[in-house]
Amino acid sequence: MKEASFYTLSGDKISCSLCPHNCLIADGKRGICRVRKNEGGKLITESYGQICSLNFDPIEKKPLYHFFPGSIIFSAGSLGCNLHCKFCQNWEISQTGIEEFGNLRTSSPKELISKAISREGNIGIAYTYNEPTVWYEFMIETAQLAQKEGLKNVMVTNGFINPAPLEVLFPVMDAFSVDLKAFNDEFYKTITASRLAPVLTALKMIRKSGRHLEITNLVITNTNDDEKEFTEMINWIADELGKETILHISRYFPMFKMNKEPTSHEKLQSLYEIACDKLDFVYLGNMRSGLGQNTFCPNCKTEVIERIGYDTRIIGLDEEGRCRNCRQQVIAK
Ligand code: SF4
Repeated sequence: MKEASFYTLSGDKISCSLCPHNCLIADGKRGICRVRKNEGGKLITESYGQICSLNFDPIEKKPLYHFFPGSIIFSAGSLGCNLHCKFCQNWEISQTGIEEFGNLRTSSPKELISKAISREGNIGIAYTYNEPTVWYEFMIETAQLAQKEGLKNVMVTNGFINPAPLEVLFPVMDAFSVDLKAFNDEFYKTITASRLAPVLTALKMIRKSGRHLEITNLVITNTNDDEKEFTEMINWIADELGKETILHISRYFPMFKMNKEPTSHEKLQSLYEIACDKLDFVYLGNMRSGLGQNTFCPNCKTEVIERIGYDTRIIGLDEEGRCRNCRQQVIAK
């Protein structure tokens, strides 16, 4: 446990400004994320150094397809989340706090780095599994140390973070994998207990920062799969973030409080085609299909990366990430 950052006293309560919920927290109570607590007028991050999951994962699992493709990244997560998505795939760890959950190991940032560098070929650390925003202090301290060791830092996030704390992350975070859960504020309010606008602001800030960005949109049957709304989202991405923005359209399966049918292949294919009209790099995730797996040069259409599951083969890029056929830059280096 450690004192949290980004809070002020507001009367006899604490006002946390880490995320756009801006919780007002009475003494002895926690914020919406369940892991930040007012203890006698001090905001405490209860999940500091509390580790729930640790794995060496393929980078494609984050999902990041254009950031060191084919590499392994040490992935760490804790507990808690500032969203309450009814379809959460990791609800056992995201929708709980430290007191309710047993089996946590503790680690200092230094110990985590030692583990990360113990595996040859590991490119860095991904802060993932639960929402790393609510693990902010531990994440940033670890990321600063990791950077000194020459490791890359990756944040897998819902993007519901206030601008000031996000800005502080840019010097140490190399890549962001952000969920854009729908292009509909009502969906955000009723299905995730948050709001759309702050996520769009965060996406624009990340793009402007020059850090690597990939977006994932999980498509849920009869919930956020309206093609008109999806087209509006694609237009917004192309106009505000650029047509080179990498988009993963992901298939939904029933989970937690959501029991709609899994997304049909026909629907995913149709949305894939809509997205490909505007964006250079569109992928289909969470489904067995040859479609939407491989990377093609946006200029000459040569296949440059082939993927079968998490087996990734770079077949048409030079050392600088350019297409071998036409020299178009495909992967940022
Ligand atoms: S980080 Fe947690 S406590 Fe702070 S505003 Fe967000 S939900 Fe509330």
